Amino acid sequence: MGNEQLEELRGQLDKVNDQLVELINERAKIAQEIGRVKSAQGLNRFDPVRERKMLDSIEANNEGPFETSTLQHIFKEIFKASLELQEDDHRKALLVSRKKHPEDTIVTIRGEKVGNGEQKLIAGPCSVESFEQVDEVAKALKKEGIKFLRGGAFKPRTSPYDFQGLGEEGLKILKEVADKHDLAVISEIVTPHDIEKAVDYLDVIQIGARNMQNFELLKAAGSVDKPILLKRGLSATISEFINAAEYIHSKGNGNIMLCERGIRTYEKATRNTLDISAVPILKQETHLPVFVDVTHSTGRRDLLLPTAKAALAVGADGVMTEVHPDPAVALSDSAQQMDIPQFHEFMARLEESGLYKKKTAEVK
Ligand code: PEP
Ligand code: MN
Repeated sequence: MGNEQLEELRGQLDKVNDQLVELINERAKIAQEIGRVKSAQGLNRFDPVRERKMLDSIEANNEGPFETSTLQHIFKEIFKASLELQEDDHRKALLVSRKKHPEDTIVTIRGEKVGNGEQKLIAGPCSVESFEQVDEVAKALKKEGIKFLRGGAFKPRTSPYDFQGLGEEGLKILKEVADKHDLAVISEIVTPHDIEKAVDYLDVIQIGARNMQNFELLKAAGSVDKPILLKRGLSATISEFINAAEYIHSKGNGNIMLCERGIRTYEKATRNTLDISAVPILKQETHLPVFVDVTHSTGRRDLLLPTAKAALAVGADGVMTEVHPDPAVALSDSAQQMDIPQFHEFMARLEESGLYKKKTAEVK
């Protein structure tokens, strides 16, 4: 008899559970609809006044046996889950997300493709210092079959007294060298009003770590028809990084490449800490090509090769590194740039590892 009663009660409980599941999901659908209405009106999804009203009404209607505080705790969890559901919807809608666009984005730069499965190198000096300096590096790149030449013309330095770059003169040098050797140039732009100007000189506009959340700059970069290399901020989370890319895409420019360049941690052995797992995460969550800057992430010449191998092994679309004809006298980042023989050695070792396939050098 006792057993029968137990079974009967369990049956009742199961029915109530089913009803609760149905009701909670019904509530979730309404919350999602509210989220869509709010987002169309530009309103915040979380409304504390409204939440307080709902909690008060639980108190007014509670006839026990649960304590009001217990019920309020349970409902707060339901509110939180509904809010997360709305955020998930929002994340699904990001233009840079793989959910939105499952195929890989392939960026074509001067006829060379990035993100097509062939891993690419970007190399060049930290700063543009002279025509001769950039020309010498360009020749080394040609020998290695590398198409992408980097060099800073506008340098966002930590100290205002450090070399700030040659500015527009630097962009002119880069263009001249690039045209001479049929290379594509990448250089950092730091203010929105220089973006338009940069379009005439550059093949790729770089947005540096210190400017990853300079939203006006991101919007300006999104308004031009030029590929963008966006570097991760010094203390930016992956989600902030993805949202910075979204700023660019939302303005109409989908030719975006991401670059992990190390993040700030307590570790002092390297200049920054290379977040290697960010690469597969970014590849999974977005459809954009992902580079790893081994120079700025480590700040150490002896770590360039192992970290470049790690980057390629973990699925990066390419590696960025700094090369200078005479690093000892470089005007910026002199401790971490390779000289030209070291660069050729680096390339040889990378190829030897089987992780990188050199393009046959063009004879010119
Ligand atoms: C650079 O690549 O020239 C540079 C300044 O790097 P970051 O913005 O990553 O510090
Ligand atoms: Mn540098």
